[in-house]
Amino acid sequence: MFSDEIERLRHDNLFRHIKDRGPICPPARILINNIEYINFSSNDYLGLSNHPSIIEAANKAIEKYGLGAGASRLLSGGTELHATLEKKIAEFKGSDAALIFNSGYTANISAIPVLASEGDIIFSDELNHASIIDGCRLSKAKKVIYRHRDVEHLSELIKKEHGKRKMVITDTVFSMDGDIAPLKEISDICTQHDAILYIDDAHGTGVLGSGRGALTHFGIKPTPQIIQMGTFSKALGSYGAFIAADKNVIQWLINTARGFIYSTALPACVIAASLEALNIVQNDLSLIKNLWQNREMLFKGLMDLGFYTINSETPIIPIVVGDTNTTLKFSELLMHHNIYAPAIRPPTVKVPRIRVSVTAAHTEEDINKLLKGLRFAK
Ligand code: PMP
Repeated sequence: MFSDEIERLRHDNLFRHIKDRGPICPPARILINNIEYINFSSNDYLGLSNHPSIIEAANKAIEKYGLGAGASRLLSGGTELHATLEKKIAEFKGSDAALIFNSGYTANISAIPVLASEGDIIFSDELNHASIIDGCRLSKAKKVIYRHRDVEHLSELIKKEHGKRKMVITDTVFSMDGDIAPLKEISDICTQHDAILYIDDAHGTGVLGSGRGALTHFGIKPTPQIIQMGTFSKALGSYGAFIAADKNVIQWLINTARGFIYSTALPACVIAASLEALNIVQNDLSLIKNLWQNREMLFKGLMDLGFYTINSETPIIPIVVGDTNTTLKFSELLMHHNIYAPAIRPPTVKVPRIRVSVTAAHTEEDINKLLKGLRFAK
């Protein structure tokens, strides 16, 4: 079964392998098959996933609350830590209330279908994350796709369409291109057309706007018409996701979002880790400063070497080096230099690229090694 399909994937160089890693390494390193690489593949932007006080917080919570949550949140799976994290993340995002979801994927596929349903219209950026696309597919609303970051196109389309409710959905930082949505213009269009704005701030949280995310970055004040989704699994180094929004929206999600209602709650140790990470991000801005310094250093080096990086504006930097085959070979060559920077291929992206993500945990030497490896592979 499926052997022909698998053979086709192999033939087209699209077959994917899992590369599981070994135990914790020094910062920004990854152990694969007992070989240590400098890791340029992680969304752990602030290097928090190995942070001692976060690990300690998780360990203490296991001792206090046990491991598995044992039930969904609406039964008995939640703890007082869940409620505290929701309160803190709502404050951090400047919104009324928040709700934890088990992952970013679950948040998008569960919330979108109940925020826009039959008779409504969703406007979605063509490069939105797969979880948004799947959330839209699950929704009974009409879907209208606008060209990537093209506010004129969005404006044109939103004027033409008439429905009960309109909702514009965009990633804030696009996960494969590393560019940023023009949120100011998008939010103005939403205000003009009385549309809800749903943002996926997975890669903006902990990275933009002193860590508070894209709204702060653009100086946009949260309103009841703005719904902010984000994750604990990237810059916050933990796991899980949240939606921060108006109280009514949160109540509605608690009562309708299937991935929230019908799934076991996140364990308290994961919640404790997210709480500690949030605490660190709020109190130590030096991590975000380092992240952006590293990003600028790497970006300048790539420009000096003449690499094409699409429109990257963030620590996510796509490096376009050729077709799928060339990109795979490039990534393999980098591995020979002990650098892990995977090739991203169709169908994840249309244009194959090496997706580099630089973090606060990289040193100047790490970045120079990457640049040297890239110069060699070119
Ligand atoms: N949204 C975006 C923009 C993402 O990049 C990702 C993860 N790659 C998700 C949602 C899903 O988040 P999670 O990994 O927590 O499921």
